[in-house]
Amino acid sequence: MTDLTDVLLNDGKTVHYEVALALASFSYRFGDFKVKKSSPISLTVENLGERKLLVKGEVSVEVWIPCARCLEPVASELDIRFENELEADDRDYIEGYSLDVDQLVHDEALLVWPERVLCREDCKGLCSTCGQNLNDGSCSCGPTDLDPRMAKILDIFKNV
Ligand SMILES: [Zn+2]
Ligand SMILES: [Zn+2]
Repeated sequence: MTDLTDVLLNDGKTVHYEVALALASFSYRFGDFKVKKSSPISLTVENLGERKLLVKGEVSVEVWIPCARCLEPVASELDIRFENELEADDRDYIEGYSLDVDQLVHDEALLVWPERVLCREDCKGLCSTCGQNLNDGSCSCGPTDLDPRMAKILDIFKNV
């Protein structure tokens, strides 16, 4: 939590903060993603008057996101920038005279979250039969990996 007393009590005032990210992981409905490392959050809060605050922030966070094919965690860098106008009594982010900057960064990260992360461009993924990570070597399921029932259907068509 960042103490905003000074800026909250003075209309027109702007205060700059450097805050460490305390968040250990990002939790969304599609998973839980651990933070590998983070730059300090560069935060500027301006009191716009009438109990409105302009909150600007910038932070670069490395998060472990699973590869879309093999599920190995990949350190992925998120560049998060935000500029939000908040009410001084915004309950999502402000508690008394403190700003929950971690919550703000958490919610803003979702907007720049990569759609798909690959450990490498040519990741071979997992075998759909035994689950072996094919980057570590091939499994004994065979290269064609054809479902036996499917093979039978193909045979039927051959006989038509
Ligand atoms: Zn992969
Ligand atoms: Zn296999």
